[in-house]
Amino acid sequence: MTRDWNRRTKLVHGGTRRSQYGEVSEAIFLTQGFVYDSAEAAEARFLSAGADEFIYARYGNPTVAMFEDRIAALEGAEDAFATASGMAAVNGALTAMLKAGDHVVSSRALFGSCLYILEEVLTRYGVEVSFVDGADMDQWRAAIRPDTKAVFFESLSNPTLELVDIKSVSELAHAVGATVIVDNVFATPVYSNAIAQGADVVVYSATKHIDGQGRVLGGVILGTREFIRKTVEPYMKHTGGAMSPFTAWVLLKGLETIDLRVRAQAASAQAIAEALEGAEGLARVIYPGLASHPQHDLATAQMGAGGTLLALDLAGGQEAAFRFLNAIEIGVISNNLGDAKTILTHPATTTHQRLPDDQKAALGIGPGLVRLSVGLEDTDDLIADLTGALAKAG
Ligand SMILES: *Cc1c(COP(=O)(O)O)cnc(C)c1O
Repeated sequence: MTRDWNRRTKLVHGGTRRSQYGEVSEAIFLTQGFVYDSAEAAEARFLSAGADEFIYARYGNPTVAMFEDRIAALEGAEDAFATASGMAAVNGALTAMLKAGDHVVSSRALFGSCLYILEEVLTRYGVEVSFVDGADMDQWRAAIRPDTKAVFFESLSNPTLELVDIKSVSELAHAVGATVIVDNVFATPVYSNAIAQGADVVVYSATKHIDGQGRVLGGVILGTREFIRKTVEPYMKHTGGAMSPFTAWVLLKGLETIDLRVRAQAASAQAIAEALEGAEGLARVIYPGLASHPQHDLATAQMGAGGTLLALDLAGGQEAAFRFLNAIEIGVISNNLGDAKTILTHPATTTHQRLPDDQKAALGIGPGLVRLSVGLEDTDDLIADLTGALAKAG
C-alpha cells in the first residue's frame, strides 16, 4: 500500500493501523497480550498468525508493527523487526544467523559494544571473526573467503567518519554467498541507500536520529521477508529483545519528522565544517562533506551528503580539547548523537576510554579529537559558539 508513495508521505502515513475509534495520531497499544474470540480462534492464531493478528508483545504488537512497517517502507526493505535497543538489533542480526564454525569478516572501526559482540561473544561460541580496515578494499578482498558466512561493518565509522564502500564490499561478499549486514546509524536512514547499494540486512540504533530527541532506547533489523521472519523473528521472539509499544510510539513520531530534521542537521553540519576548516587551533576538521575528506567522492555517491557528525582534531591535544568542551555554551557534553541538541564527545576519555592506546592510535582516536553531533539549533549560533570556544581553548 505504501509502495508508490514518496519518502515524506511514507514517513507520515506508512504502516498506520487505525483502531475502531479512527484516531488521527497512532494509538499506543500498551498491552502484553490479546484476547481470542474462542478456543478455536486461539488455536488457529497459534498455528498461523496473520499480519494483524497478535499473540504476545514479545512476538509483536500493533504499535510496534506500525513502526516496523513505516521504517521498512522508508528503507526499501521487505520487512523489519523492532528491538529494545540498537545493540539488541546488532546482536540479533548476527546471532540469529550464525553458528559455531562460521566465518565472519568485519571492519575494525566499530562502536564499542559492536566490537564486543564480534570479538568476545561470537568467538566464544566458535565463530571465527577476521577484522579489516574497512576503508581498504584490498583487505576486504583478502579476508573474504569461499566459506565466509557474513560481512559486518558500520557504513560510516565512529568517531573518525571513515566510509565503507557498501556496493564494492557487497559485490565481494555476494560472490561467495555471504550475507552483508550494515550498521547504518551514522549514515542515518535519511541518507541510507544501503539496500539499493547491495546490503542484505541493515541495522539501526533508533536511539539516535530516529528518535532524534534523546527520549528512548530502541533498534531495528531490516531485510528480506524470508530473513526477518524465518531467521530473525524466531531468535528475537524467544530471547526477549522486543521493543516496548511506548518506545515504538515515540519512534513513529520521530519518523514523521526525521527527513526534515536530519536534512537540517546535515546542512548545518556542512556549514559548520566549512566555517571551522583551517581555523586556528584545529589540526583537522573531519567531515565527509568537505572536499578535504579522503573519501569525499564516495560519501557523495553513497550518502548524497556529509551527514550530521563532524570530528574536530584540536592541535593542543587533550588539554585543549577539554578547555574547548568546557567553554561551549550551547552544545552539551554527552555521548548520544543524532539529537535535536548539539552534543560534543571526547572519545579518547569516554566512549573509547577502555581501548588500549595502540588500538586508539590505529583508529585515529587521538587525545585532541572531539566528536560533534550537530543538532537543530540555529547554525550561526552554533558557529559562533564553536569558534568562541576554540579561541578560549587557545
Ligand atoms: C549507539 C550505537 C549502537 C547501539 O545502539 P543502542 O541503542 O545504544 O543500543 C550501535 N551502533 C552504532 C554505530 C551506534 O552509534
